[in-house]
Amino acid sequence: MDAPSPPSGFESGPPAEGAGRATPVMEQYIEIKAANPDCLLFYRMGDFYELFFEDAEVAARALGIVLTKRGKHLGRDIPMCGVPVHRADEYLNRLIALGHRVAVCEQLEDPAEARKRGNKSVVRRDVIRLVTPGTLTEDTLLDARRNNYLLAVARARASTGAESRFALAWIDISTGEFRIVECDRASLAAEIARIEPGEIIVSDALYGDAELAPYLRSLPAVTPLTRDVFDGASAERRLAGYFGLSTTEGFGTLSRLELTAAAACVTYVERTQLGQRPPLSPPMREAQGATLAIDPATRSNLELARTLAGERRGSLLAAVDRSVTAAGSRLLAQRLAAPLTEPAAIARRHDAVEFFVGSAAARAEMRERLEAAPDLARALARLVVGRGGPRDLAAIRDGIAAAAGLAVGLERSAAVAAELADAAQALRRPDQAIAAELAAALADELPHLKRDGGFVRTGFDAALDEARALRDESRRVIAALQARYADATAVRALKIRHNNVLGYFVEVTAQHGDKLMAPPLNATFIHRQTLAGQVRFTTTELGELEAKIASAADRALGIELETFDRLAASVTTAAADIKAAAEALAVLDVAAALAELAVERHYVRPEIDASLDFIVEGGRHPVVEQALARDGGPFVANDCDLSPPPEAAAGRIYLLTGPNMAGKSTYLRQNALIAILAQMGSFVPARRARIGAVDRLFSRVGAADDIARGRSTFMVEMVETAAILNQAGEHSLVILDEIGRGTATFDGLSIAWATIEHLHETNRCRALFATHFHELTALAATLPRLFNATVRVKEWQGEVVFLHEVVPGAADRSYGIQVAKLAGLPPAVIARAQVVLAKLEAEDRASPRGFDDLPLFAATPRPTSAPPRDTAIDTVIAALASLHPDEMSPRDALEALYALKAKAAEDRGP
Ligand code: ADP
Ligand code: MG
Repeated sequence: MDAPSPPSGFESGPPAEGAGRATPVMEQYIEIKAANPDCLLFYRMGDFYELFFEDAEVAARALGIVLTKRGKHLGRDIPMCGVPVHRADEYLNRLIALGHRVAVCEQLEDPAEARKRGNKSVVRRDVIRLVTPGTLTEDTLLDARRNNYLLAVARARASTGAESRFALAWIDISTGEFRIVECDRASLAAEIARIEPGEIIVSDALYGDAELAPYLRSLPAVTPLTRDVFDGASAERRLAGYFGLSTTEGFGTLSRLELTAAAACVTYVERTQLGQRPPLSPPMREAQGATLAIDPATRSNLELARTLAGERRGSLLAAVDRSVTAAGSRLLAQRLAAPLTEPAAIARRHDAVEFFVGSAAARAEMRERLEAAPDLARALARLVVGRGGPRDLAAIRDGIAAAAGLAVGLERSAAVAAELADAAQALRRPDQAIAAELAAALADELPHLKRDGGFVRTGFDAALDEARALRDESRRVIAALQARYADATAVRALKIRHNNVLGYFVEVTAQHGDKLMAPPLNATFIHRQTLAGQVRFTTTELGELEAKIASAADRALGIELETFDRLAASVTTAAADIKAAAEALAVLDVAAALAELAVERHYVRPEIDASLDFIVEGGRHPVVEQALARDGGPFVANDCDLSPPPEAAAGRIYLLTGPNMAGKSTYLRQNALIAILAQMGSFVPARRARIGAVDRLFSRVGAADDIARGRSTFMVEMVETAAILNQAGEHSLVILDEIGRGTATFDGLSIAWATIEHLHETNRCRALFATHFHELTALAATLPRLFNATVRVKEWQGEVVFLHEVVPGAADRSYGIQVAKLAGLPPAVIARAQVVLAKLEAEDRASPRGFDDLPLFAATPRPTSAPPRDTAIDTVIAALASLHPDEMSPRDALEALYALKAKAAEDRGP
């Protein structure tokens, strides 16, 4: 790795000290570092950020840059490494990705200012910002197509006997989104998986909690914070304060727990932004159960946002994303992560998609205009926190103009879809005067940084034009001066040059140097510097000119910066309207993109209602279908009907048998994905679909199938199956793929057997169960809502041909040997296997295993008929387990003790 080694700066550098005392710079460093102990300190020294001591060691290792040393502290070498300021983002990016936090410490004054205070004085420095994974705003540090959330998790201690409650509040400070939801312990992991935060903040107490610690530590970027951040008593005040309000009543009723989480978020944002307040939307409370619950295992298993290998390519998201803007891509990812459950809300989205499906012209125009629109939300956030540049102003200018243009087009036709009509209204909100002002002020070509100047259009500000003219005029005068000096000295090659150290100077080659240093020319030319090939001089006239140029240039830049601040201020004032328009652009992009997808891939609008039906006709797997299409292969569409059979009050379970490679896993997943797409508001890859909204979705794969996750143990499979059997309800959809594979055949078969019974009798959910245990098909005789299905194969001249067609019935055999043959096992092994199989089958026929006589529920203990135990002991132990002494006040503890005593007495009876 290239390792830019910083040049020694203008100051003597932190160290440069002998035995005992620290230098002033070192003292300053130590003080600032002490105030930011949990961050790597980027300490500004001229053109570099330098890191010292342990920070240097950590960063050098993480970034692969050279670790050097600089001077001594208390008699020891100080380890040091540095990164050039102009490449700081790149290095920050990598450190943040590795989970580090960085404090950026800047020089707050010009070194010249410091020198004025005396030779020994140190340039004033301080931390201007903490860079943490969840609080980024820079484009270079963010993935344009994904949200980057900061999530706060607050817990309300369980009062005796009850379950703990959690509130989650999350913010994307680069776009201003702010949401809150409450949940219980069982759905905590599913909620966090859906939000996919870049950083999670929790209280120290929660981080140290014995029950939660293992889970929290398995998550990336969890930051424990001191108690005050999660203080419930001051929460409302802090939250209101952030928005400049006196109360949070306007946000609707928020519980104290929700307020605590929300306040923790804003307090952390203020801390990391050193008091700046990026614009946030008022916190939006998500109703519990408003979104389809999908736990982390199901998400990764179904490869929703990324594949099991961790890539976006190959995921459902990648397959269905046709958006043309980054904001649209972010919204699509959000919706896919959190499909809805309320049929009316889902229909609202479908209406919008349908409008664009119906009008190819409107869709094409919309997408063309959107493509040209900039990322308004992120430009806005940067401008408001003072991190914006001229191009962000231009983004606001173009974004507002684009929004207005789109509104005109929409208003002609939007009456059909409420979501579009609302978007059109939001697009109208930003004040066009701001766009006009920006258009008048900004030049055509814009620099990246405002300090480079040159971004204000000529003619916008008379004083600026005058200063610029003076600056440019002086530059012409310098050119003339060079010609005059060349004449006067008869040195044709004489040049007037400029650098940052000397300013303007006259330069001649070494051979002419002496001439200028001898009379009479030395009366005009004052020697400054002799290099290997050149000699440099200055003159009084040149010095005066330089001062004039510098002051004109300074003045010009000063005026430009003032103009920038003024423009940024008017943008900030209009932040709420601009944000609303930005969100509307994203909504439109998603609607048009889903329509584009629907037309391109022949998706249909699904019907969603509150029933328990699940009817998919001609369904396809959205990802496999596209992959096959690229290779020119057809995808075989299949039906699925999990609706309750006539007279039944719960949905069906499909038991799917068929040989390896037949398409069982594909079929299972495609139906889960169709439900997700339908409920997120997309059309679906099917000929027709009617789905009673799913409230929870579970998907598990038998351990042997799950090697990609690197923890393919039978234990994991069982833990996950347990979670499903404990949580799934009537409105849930459960996908179980080859459960019971990871153990011996009879074990596995028995577990699969009992699992199906439980799903059928207790969970009563809609389910798809793929298995290679053909014995299970016998269950259909006793379980009325179990439906046997198989994937058809044809045997042709001893070869197996996969038809990928799902039909009623049970597979007659596994075709394992045929598949092995296809896979290229040696013919001798295949032949031998056929002999063994024939023998085993003959024996089996001679003494059939009597599954038919297995009494169905005799072995299943009913919860009601559990043997009586000393219930007092159990309840008291359970109550004790739910107490958290470290988090209790003495008073709470006393109350808990009374409650325990009461419980013991009551359960033991009189
Ligand atoms: P199983 O789970 O039965 O072993 P898979 O679902 O893994 O089988 O499918 C095996 C392969 O068959 C897949 O990789 C896919 O390419 C192909 N396939 C599956 N279903 C279909 C289908 N409906 N149409 C076309 N090809 C399919
Ligand atoms: Mg499979």
